[in-house]
Amino acid sequence: MIDLCSRESNPLLSIDAALARIKAAIHPVAGSEKVVLKNALGRVLSESVYSPINIPQFRNAAMDGYAFSSKDINPDQPFTLSLAGTSWAGRPFKGLLQRGQCIGIFTGAVLPAQADSVVMQERVQSNGQTVLFPANSPSRQNIREVGEDVKQGNLLCAYSKKLNAIDLGLLASAGIYELTVKRTVKIAFFSTGDELTALGQPLESGKIYDSNRYILSGLLNDASYSVTDMGVIADNKQLLEDSFIKAAKNHDVIITTGGASVGEADYVKEILDRCGEVNFWKIAIKPGKPLAFGKIGSCCFFGLPGNPVAVLVTFQQIVAPALKQLSGAPDSKPLQLIATCTSALKKAAGRQEYQRGILTQDPNGDFFVASSGKQGSNILSSISRANCYIVLPTECKGVQAGDKVKVELI
Ligand code: AMP
Ligand code: MG
Repeated sequence: MIDLCSRESNPLLSIDAALARIKAAIHPVAGSEKVVLKNALGRVLSESVYSPINIPQFRNAAMDGYAFSSKDINPDQPFTLSLAGTSWAGRPFKGLLQRGQCIGIFTGAVLPAQADSVVMQERVQSNGQTVLFPANSPSRQNIREVGEDVKQGNLLCAYSKKLNAIDLGLLASAGIYELTVKRTVKIAFFSTGDELTALGQPLESGKIYDSNRYILSGLLNDASYSVTDMGVIADNKQLLEDSFIKAAKNHDVIITTGGASVGEADYVKEILDRCGEVNFWKIAIKPGKPLAFGKIGSCCFFGLPGNPVAVLVTFQQIVAPALKQLSGAPDSKPLQLIATCTSALKKAAGRQEYQRGILTQDPNGDFFVASSGKQGSNILSSISRANCYIVLPTECKGVQAGDKVKVELI
């Protein structure tokens, strides 16, 4: 599965081949734990959850109005019924609805057994004793039947679902207050580089602030991950090796940035080779070619490039699917759209490129995308302005204004 690219002296792995190798090399974390529902947002279910009850549990009114039995009326004629009481949400009408009677009823209130129709209050005239319904009042309407949302025993959320706010609402409606979820994926990350300066410190000559750790801590902000920020490690082989070994002992994943290339101070691959195993370390992606993937014991290792935009792109395209797999959540490909590109884009064949774009939609619903600016892998400002990637396949040799391109929302 290795793609030999004409312009590279070393073989580059295609993105798909890299993803396939990662997929084959990792397994979802095995443990699970119980959490209360309000702490389950973003967690991955390790059981399928079925409803212990019918939802709704009782027939009730879908709107505020008056409830009666359709047996009591001739729908073509106006009719008058005597008002026997009221059913409030949470406080049902206690009596028995007799022939010729109706009750006032509010949304969500229990419908008396004899009633099968609710007419909205705006359509009737009530004097407090009797209620006049106009001709053609709809019968058998505005009623929520038992179990019409979920039947007792029906599946609410399936094993491996990553729970969102809607799921929490659905589970709560069934009275589920505790769930079994996958344990979190333990992830350590750090930046490497002698030039990196912590925020709050003045910049000495030749130094830069460490932006990668802020990008990563944002990208890793997910309830199914437990994250350890190990700070900045200098370009020192011994320090790096010690950090790799220490982090691998109690984490499922290590993510580093910088030092993954072939420069004098790029030690990541060499050290991964020494204390673990390198699966691959170069892929046909731009930005982000030097990307080391391997293992230290059972801990997965991702050595990302140093340039911040390359960190973002490789994380989203390569690392994120792996973390998802480790968390036990199902695989999902990002949605792609076809848009007309309004900029000319430069590209050489050989690597799949993720160029930064601004996607818009015109009043006809057609999509247009323009470059968001300079595409250097160090240039964060143009990706901060962007709302999508323009995905240019390996063999593409540039785009002219007016060409159709694939875009992926960021
Ligand atoms: P490297 O792969 O270590 O040679 O780094 C490639 C480029 O990315 C260099 O210009 C580095 O200064 C820059 N770089 C590396 N790490 C970071 C970081 N944490 N934040 C911002 N830029 C970085
Ligand atoms: Mg470096």
